[in-house]
Amino acid sequence: MHTVKIEAVLGDITLQDVDAVVNAANRQLAGGGGVDGAIHRAAGARELREACRPLAPCEPGDAKATPGFRLPARWIIHTVGPVYRDGRHGEAEVLANCYRRSLEVAEQLGARSVAFPAISTGVYAYPRREAAEIAVRTPRGRPGTVTLVRLVAYDRETWNLYQELLGG
Ligand code: ADP
Repeated sequence: MHTVKIEAVLGDITLQDVDAVVNAANRQLAGGGGVDGAIHRAAGARELREACRPLAPCEPGDAKATPGFRLPARWIIHTVGPVYRDGRHGEAEVLANCYRRSLEVAEQLGARSVAFPAISTGVYAYPRREAAEIAVRTPRGRPGTVTLVRLVAYDRETWNLYQELLGG
């Protein structure tokens, strides 16, 4: 059995040379702003939109895969994070499900390396530290074929949190 290596980098998820990148999508899988917009532009907006259409809607905490098109990654795993309200509406459970389900889908695809953005920490307003704790904790010790989980921070604050929580 493999152990999953979890690492953090500061960078742009669209440039990651991994088997699958995770997209912080919306329920309609229709593309949007933030990391979703960046992934759609880099992959090829028209192709990706067409690939997403038959997969929608995607419920919060669930995940669905498309090809990566023009990305270095072979697949994009679209997951829908929770909109953060006050932490008492099951947000932590839904966010953990995003990481869990994305890894399950990655396994089904045979992906060995998977890059995640900091799901829900942009427009969906999830507090960065709590989200980072879930991002670091959920993939830990997971059996399966995924050997590398790369947490991609787009800002220094998130990157510092990942380093701290990973014991780096
Ligand atoms: P959500 O709606 O799930 O909050 P956002 O796209 O608004 O999604 O933000 C999620 C996180 O993705 C934020 O921390 C944001 O800074 C980050 N982000 C935005 N663009 C990129 C990118 N190109 N690569 C990696 N992370 C990104």
